[in-house]
Amino acid sequence: MGVRKFTERKLVVASHNQGKVREIGDLLRPFGLEVVSAGDLNLDEPEETETTFVGNAKLKALAAATASGLPALADDSGLAVTALNGDPGLYSARWAGPERDFNLAMEKVEKALQEKSATSAQDRHAQFVCALCLAWPDQHTECFEGRVDGTLIWPPRGDKGFGYDPMFVMKGHDITFGEMAPAKKHEISHRAVAFNQLVDACFQE
Ligand code: IMP
Repeated sequence: MGVRKFTERKLVVASHNQGKVREIGDLLRPFGLEVVSAGDLNLDEPEETETTFVGNAKLKALAAATASGLPALADDSGLAVTALNGDPGLYSARWAGPERDFNLAMEKVEKALQEKSATSAQDRHAQFVCALCLAWPDQHTECFEGRVDGTLIWPPRGDKGFGYDPMFVMKGHDITFGEMAPAKKHEISHRAVAFNQLVDACFQE
């Protein structure tokens, strides 16, 4: 059995995060689909109990596909810092506390790096990771993962992105994702890498 192609006309974006829904909607626009969000359909948000990004993306996509009877696409993503054994990783959103304060989350990352005396660019290596999973109501799934390498700088710079963008400088670049034009970030980011794999596998003839 090969990869399953996406042939339906309608897709649920299995997220309640307006930023992600908009970004995924933009990426899907060329395919002329009708896109609705889990929020629009009042679907419950499942607890993210898996131990990998792909595991959590799959769980979210399956929950939305099962509840809606439509194919569903979910994203699970985060920042994995090498010197911190991959933290904040799956807990990237939770490090920002209940208020989702990413200045606080970035300060926590910086403090943890300083405690490890991580000063060189090599010591401050990190990856942004994005898992995308497409699930159908019959429980079939197709999952993809994109990663990009970079270095964490301090103090943070730029206000164009979200989350940890202001402290992440992607390999081969000298500005942070927070300073980069969104269209440029969307061409090269971890989400773009995963999305290109998804399109090649499921959306091309
Ligand atoms: P999720 O909603 O559980 O997947 O949490 C993902 C978290 O990872 C977000 O809240 C962000 O903090 C972080 N994250 C994921 N992708 C990016 C990105 O492109 N830039 C900055 N932070 C990101």
